[in-house]
Amino acid sequence: MRQSKLFAKTIKEVPKDEASLNAQLLIRAGFIDKLAAGVYTFLPLGLRVHNKIINIIREEMDAIDGQEILMPALIPKESWQATNRWDNFDALFKLGGADKKEYGLGATHEEVITPLAKKFIFSYKELPTAIYQIQTKFRNEPRAKAGLIRGREFSMKDLYSFHTDEADLEKYYKVAQEAYFKIFSRLGLADLTYLTYSSGGAFSKYSHEFQTLTKTGEDLIYICSKCRLAVNKEIIKEQSACPECGKKDLKEEKAVEVGNIFKLGTRFSKPFDMQYMDEKGEKKDVIMGCYGMGPSRIMGTIVEVYNDKNGVIWPEEIAPFAVHLISLNKNDEANKIYEEMEKAGIEVLYDDREEVSAGEKFANADLIGCPTRVVISEKTLAKKEAEIKRRGGKEFKMVKVDQLVKSLLAR
Ligand SMILES: [Zn+2]
Repeated sequence: MRQSKLFAKTIKEVPKDEASLNAQLLIRAGFIDKLAAGVYTFLPLGLRVHNKIINIIREEMDAIDGQEILMPALIPKESWQATNRWDNFDALFKLGGADKKEYGLGATHEEVITPLAKKFIFSYKELPTAIYQIQTKFRNEPRAKAGLIRGREFSMKDLYSFHTDEADLEKYYKVAQEAYFKIFSRLGLADLTYLTYSSGGAFSKYSHEFQTLTKTGEDLIYICSKCRLAVNKEIIKEQSACPECGKKDLKEEKAVEVGNIFKLGTRFSKPFDMQYMDEKGEKKDVIMGCYGMGPSRIMGTIVEVYNDKNGVIWPEEIAPFAVHLISLNKNDEANKIYEEMEKAGIEVLYDDREEVSAGEKFANADLIGCPTRVVISEKTLAKKEAEIKRRGGKEFKMVKVDQLVKSLLAR
């Protein structure tokens, strides 16, 4: 991608009405644009990162036999009333249709998936099964000041699993936990993310959140260093000790909730009368679990975790481009190098702008945060070399131009 052609530009001024670090950096770097509090457009660079996060999540959900679908965001009032959530669901966006009917904008999808699954699941032979979607969700948040971390409109992966009994749900619940940690590991968040016990509702003692430590997190969690897990605020009030080992001196940290998983039991299968036939021909309630994870929120969290005073420092696997190639007024040679990189399949953002100073190009590269910066200038070309620097690192390395692609591919 040639930077001279890039639709969205970097911005010098920090937006005055934007308090959160993640949104400030992403707006300045030209990744997102703010339309209203908690409502953002994803610009080309931002959408590339968002899509990469989604693809990692999709691969890991497919790997645990999740089947992807796409449900509507517009959900009729009657569906919410069936589960008693029209008046009780926190922050549901409600609107009226031209047909004088009322609708809730999807903040969660149990009211759609359960009657849907009922149309296809009749027998124990069809269980277990797991269905997921990646979709825009809506919440009428009273406060939306945390950038991508607490939006009124945000992306969400929600998977729902269906089982014959609780033991089977328990088995899948553990598999899903492992898949979540695989995702966090690929996103560069595994070391900072804790499986966090929270209250479970009617069907299990605990549910679980996945909480990532950040300096600015809105949640407080309490870490057991021995078990490498945490409990959330509600749980610490109830029992003030680690649920696994009983250790009492838990360490308080600020964190962002990047995922959560619940055993729903029959909370939704009962109101929708979703049953299956067992081996003996008896009808039984289907047991359900649900597993949420927010790609846009994860993107905001990664920015809160990986940055310095100059901008974002993207983890390799989700960076908008692997390489930021900067040409300092030697475009003929740089053009050739850019084309070679493209041909070799290297994802490269090429700063080919002619009226922009070297200082500004370097500042832009730091702000955008691609993992590797390559500079081509008169000085480097005099020795037939290019200069390579890692974002966030201090060292420069000189590489012969004819070895450049090979060297970048070897990373
Ligand atoms: Zn413990």
